[in-house]
Amino acid sequence: MQTTFGTGQPGKENTDLAFTDPLTGLGNHRRFFDKVDRLISDRADDPAPFTVGILDLDGFKPINDLFGHKAGDDILIQVAMRLRASMDGHSAVCRIGADEFAYLYPMVFSEEQAAEKSRMLIEILSAPYDVGERTARLSASVGCSLFYSGDETTEILINKAETALYHAKRSGRGRVVVYTREMEEAAKRVTRIEQALRRAVSAGEVEPHFQPIVDLSSRRTIGFETLARWTDRDLGVVPPSVFIPIAEERGIIGPLSQLVLRKAAEAARSWPKELFLSFNLSPSQLVDQNTGLHILAILDRTGFDPRRLEIEITETGLMNDPASAEKIVEDLRRVGIRVSLDDFGTGQSSLGRLREFHFDKLKIDRAFVSSILDDRPSEHIIRAILAMCEGLGMDVVAEGIEDEAQADRLVQFGCAGGQGYLFGKPVDADATLGYLRDSYRGALHAKAI
Ligand code: C2E
Ligand code: MG
Ligand code: MG
Repeated sequence: MQTTFGTGQPGKENTDLAFTDPLTGLGNHRRFFDKVDRLISDRADDPAPFTVGILDLDGFKPINDLFGHKAGDDILIQVAMRLRASMDGHSAVCRIGADEFAYLYPMVFSEEQAAEKSRMLIEILSAPYDVGERTARLSASVGCSLFYSGDETTEILINKAETALYHAKRSGRGRVVVYTREMEEAAKRVTRIEQALRRAVSAGEVEPHFQPIVDLSSRRTIGFETLARWTDRDLGVVPPSVFIPIAEERGIIGPLSQLVLRKAAEAARSWPKELFLSFNLSPSQLVDQNTGLHILAILDRTGFDPRRLEIEITETGLMNDPASAEKIVEDLRRVGIRVSLDDFGTGQSSLGRLREFHFDKLKIDRAFVSSILDDRPSEHIIRAILAMCEGLGMDVVAEGIEDEAQADRLVQFGCAGGQGYLFGKPVDADATLGYLRDSYRGALHAKAI
């Protein structure tokens, strides 16, 4: 007799209860594990591959919040019905989490076929759902893994599908990703970096480097941006574009940021008083109400004047939880800390946000600056940003200036602030002191003349 999964065969309800999802009538996670276990033992003598898929609804929570839980339940029931209807006699689908479903395709032997069948499921789920008088739309992401060898356990197979799902979710909505060996390598590398970073942060081994920000027409240094640098004993130099996202994802960004800010504030105490210190905050720090308290405590402990500190945030940081971000920024601004909008022009760049949220400064992304000389649209965009900043009373800094011609053009357009390799690369605290000594000696010399 062929076993059915979660379809609730008559007379089997009682024994099936522990294996059934009461809302949708599909099998639950136990049923799914059981089914995969059994298929693995069936394939002991005949090791033909098979496919496991995990499907996660994109943006289900907002729908639940918008239409209410009853409507959310109705949608889940409709999703379950569509998925069940799309299974053939060999295949099975179960609900393994709130908005997560898993399916088993015993007769799908190749990655191409797994991806194609999964894309079909996403397509089926994309048709509108009835919610009372209204309709809702959903997309879904899928991660798949294929069983190839008798050594693999159900748990390993499902973990691989979860890893693939994680990659699918990260790359956008409505995607299918089939697990590959490279993904496993990437996951292992991330874990290695995470562990080394945890150790480095507790040992105080992440260092602030400083890059000058100048007044473009006089070339005078007006402040420095703090950029975190880390050289691991075993891994060597790990760039911030690698370790900052890992720190954010794995919950290390708070302690890392506190360490770097403390060291930066200590270093900046010996700079001339008129120079500001700029510091980057990650999006995840703007949803954590402790961020403001930590910053204030560090300033207090190091005796650094809050009016000399600037915080750089990106638009992504404001999108996750605008109310929380606003509260943190408000607390910081109250003690005189200034707030800059970093990397402007990339990402979501919403002008509405500039109206709702007051920034003291805007930093034009390097992408526009690097193409200012040979790309008319970039030139127009920069001029428009400069006009807007003037109207809104915001200071401006153009990022990533690498040559004189770019700096000249920016001055010609009326851009006051600049930062980039032309004026100085990020260097450590000692080299920054050396840089300051040289430039102040130059300034004194110029005055004497
Ligand atoms: P960002 O805040 O936009 O920093 C500017 C990046 O541009 C830095 O890269 C800097 O070294 C680079 N840069 C500056 N001038 C030039 C130039 O003329 N040409 C080119 N090609 N690049 C230039 P970096 O140091 O690799 O940092 C990358 C990002 O990592 C930063 O982007 C920031 O978002 C993040 N980051 C760095 N340190 C921290 C930190 O302490 N906390 C947080 N939350 N994020 C940090
Ligand atoms: Mg920055
Ligand atoms: Mg930037």
